[in-house]
Amino acid sequence: MTEASRIARTKVAGVDVSTAHWIDGRRVPSNRTFEVFSPIDGSHLANVSAGGAEEANAAVAAARRAFPAWAALGPQGRLPILKRFAEGIVARKDEIAAVETLDNGSLLSRNREGAIPRAAHNIDFFAEWAAKRQHATIDSPTVTNHVRYDPSGVAVLITPWNGPFMLTTWKVGPALAAGNTVVVKPPEWAPLTCSLMADIAHEAGVPAGVLNVVQGIGEEAGAALVNHEEIDRISFTGSTDTARIIGQAAARTITPVSFELGGKSPFVVFGDADLDAAARTIAGQYNNAGQVCLAGTRILVEQSIAEDLLGRVRKQVDAGKVGDPREGGTKVGPLIHPEAFARVTGFVERALADGAKPLWGGKRHDFGDLYFQPTLLTDVRQDMEVVQREVFGPVLTWQTFADEEELIEMANGTRYGLAAMLFTGSEKRAWRIADRLVAGSLWVNCFFVRDLAAPFGGSRNSGIGREGGDWSMDFYCDIKNVSVLKKSLA
Ligand code: ADP
Repeated sequence: MTEASRIARTKVAGVDVSTAHWIDGRRVPSNRTFEVFSPIDGSHLANVSAGGAEEANAAVAAARRAFPAWAALGPQGRLPILKRFAEGIVARKDEIAAVETLDNGSLLSRNREGAIPRAAHNIDFFAEWAAKRQHATIDSPTVTNHVRYDPSGVAVLITPWNGPFMLTTWKVGPALAAGNTVVVKPPEWAPLTCSLMADIAHEAGVPAGVLNVVQGIGEEAGAALVNHEEIDRISFTGSTDTARIIGQAAARTITPVSFELGGKSPFVVFGDADLDAAARTIAGQYNNAGQVCLAGTRILVEQSIAEDLLGRVRKQVDAGKVGDPREGGTKVGPLIHPEAFARVTGFVERALADGAKPLWGGKRHDFGDLYFQPTLLTDVRQDMEVVQREVFGPVLTWQTFADEEELIEMANGTRYGLAAMLFTGSEKRAWRIADRLVAGSLWVNCFFVRDLAAPFGGSRNSGIGREGGDWSMDFYCDIKNVSVLKKSLA
């Protein structure tokens, strides 16, 4: 037995996981591998095939070959296959959740009850959406314009480690429903559930070559895919710095991109809000150890209620246990990787050196190596690094404002524009502020709820484009206008 085939399958959390790529409907191992560790306790989980140009070329070629037949099925023909795919995810949700938690340290209960069922919904929803869509016709004096949505071809989908399974289905769902074939590059820090996704898609009857998975390091496997000449779309979720590199590759081949990037979202609380609801939701920003692009990390509070709110938030945070994400009571688990830990620590140390004061937290948590205390920093200035740049850890800042003008200046005062949260009891105020905030998603008196029919994406450095409902179809299709001369067709 060769080394490559010996390591091609392994058990993770008791679940059989292939560590090889999935290309053209079969498992393809590489001779080179990379190691995957659990952030929970540093244990070694797997040696995963590390792809490069060769695997990227094979996967794109397979996707190209599979494209015409998949596109020709039409949305109705794809619907039952994709519905079975979604059902397969539901059937294996506990296994997927267990592997995901071990792989990236996210909370098991949330994966089981939230992220993984939602992943199934992503597939199901877009299959239905594509099947029920009516395309517009526009009447002109001499012609009728028929708007057609042709699948674009091969979509390269690159996903991050903070919610790999769910975020991958977010792209796979609309891309496949629209009739594209795809090559997925999962994150090297948490690649394992994407491999399970390939198994489930296969069992559901997704034909060979329609969904391919190339594992590997971003700068190798990812770079080979985004630089490939024969691809038609790139959808990327990850950091703004990586998006700059991918954008350059896409510019060379004029490949449309969808980018969902970082954030530094304001969490705004007015004195007329339900302060307990606001406090609960602020404490919730520490979930997943703050490794959530949408998190409201800049808490902006009306001066008059700042002390009151702070007390309520503190109670909520004190009640939230830091620890093993597999245990029911845990609210905050580990950071993903020693590099992430060093990055978060660096941000906090520089902020403290620059005059910030911790209201709580500020250093490693006793529970283990990669655990960081939920942290709240005050005495921060708008121009400080910790206010301007994404930390991607359990680190929030606390600023107060006197009036709406000052609030807007602070809230909009970064280069990001992914999301914002606004807590107020006044409808007039809500709309006044909503009209002035720069954000792709604004949640009023709530957080994280998202209808898949609604647009989602980031403004400024937080992204390019919107996905969700018709916005996804716009991205994953070549839109064609067919103008037919009136009375010219029998
Ligand atoms: P993070 O900061 O969240 O780790 P990255 O933006 O580095 O995020 O990574 C998100 C995804 O992008 C991962 O799957 C990673 O492998 C991939 N990636 C990183 N660098 C590149 C690159 N140069 N080309 C294509 N993909 C990349």
